[in-house]
Amino acid sequence: MKKSENLTIIAIFLAIPFGYLFPEIALSQKVIGDIFLASLKMLIVPLITASIFVAISGLGDAKSLKNLGTKAIFYYFMTTTLAVSVGLVAINISQIGIGESYSIVPDREVPEVKHLSINEFLLSFIPTNIVNSLAQGSIIQIIVFTSLLAVASLHLENSKREILYSFFDSLNEAMMVIAKWVIKFTPLGVFSLISYIIAKEGIDVLFILSNYILVVLLALAFHGMVTLPSLLYFIGKVSPLTYFKQVKSAVLLAFSTASSSATLPLTMKVAQEEGKVSKKVAGFVLPLGATMNMDGTALYQSIAVLFMANLAGVDLSFIDEVLIFVTTIFASVGAAGIPGAGLIMMMVVLDSVGLPHTYIPLILVVDRILDMFRTATNVWGDLVATKILDTKTKFEK
Ligand code: ASP
Repeated sequence: MKKSENLTIIAIFLAIPFGYLFPEIALSQKVIGDIFLASLKMLIVPLITASIFVAISGLGDAKSLKNLGTKAIFYYFMTTTLAVSVGLVAINISQIGIGESYSIVPDREVPEVKHLSINEFLLSFIPTNIVNSLAQGSIIQIIVFTSLLAVASLHLENSKREILYSFFDSLNEAMMVIAKWVIKFTPLGVFSLISYIIAKEGIDVLFILSNYILVVLLALAFHGMVTLPSLLYFIGKVSPLTYFKQVKSAVLLAFSTASSSATLPLTMKVAQEEGKVSKKVAGFVLPLGATMNMDGTALYQSIAVLFMANLAGVDLSFIDEVLIFVTTIFASVGAAGIPGAGLIMMMVVLDSVGLPHTYIPLILVVDRILDMFRTATNVWGDLVATKILDTKTKFEK
């Protein structure tokens, strides 16, 4: 194990008692974690743009892109479906929420959801002004534009295509160099972020909804330690343990930041350098996966929605459960890779079956803690996806 990974693990373990015992200091040093997070976020837009361009140009033709893109999207839907199934089985077996009552914590502000019509949803993929999309960090729009630009470059004369390719390739490499500098501060950043969260949320929170937390954690553990490794082993023919050891620093960072997007620079680095995934596959599949492939979020949403339905004493019909199943898959795809996004999108699932938002303030109390675990699962899911797709995609590497 590398020294920095050891330090990150030690930082996580020290941050918990530190945040609990010295909450005032932990709260006042928030800026250290914020600087670390901001430095990672600074890299996201240029890194996604450059890596997607380089990956698609490297594929060489639109057919290879279609091939990889279709496989990636099919794979994402498959694993997300498995994750939601694990969540639904877990809640149906455990029956948590039935007959339980809690006094709702009133001081939590319930976030607003923006409901999009189908037309608005479709339009949200098209960057009417790419500078705006870049400025706002609209990842999907950036991916759409960069993919078109890269495919268009394949239709240019070699001399012109090479200019664009060299520019994005150099930008990509420069971003990875900055990423390495920032990543050096991971133990410090992680210590700051976790001790702050423990001081802010308190440890007692864990006892309020212990059954719910336990069911979510066990289901996430099942998906992360049984379902995904089985796919890696049987489809990818890769040893899950060896691969996990190679890429675990990204999973640890995902846990600490609760953001798949902020973790992306490290995810890309470890997948290529340690996990030996090709640049073409990692460069395309990881940025897409960081926003679209969220197994942990989907699993969490399915448990949380049914838990709230149980608390409300609502008897859901089979059709309702099917509707929850389908909307959860899309809600996880639509969730951004930032802290708390899964909870906001979950309200869309509640609305789809007409469930009230009454219990959101209650589960909000433990959301940040669970977010850390589900984001770690999301990023592990992305890393597994990349490795499997790399082994299943044949082209010159
Ligand atoms: N925080 C998660 C992520 O970045 C999304 C969520 O809230 O579930 O992957």
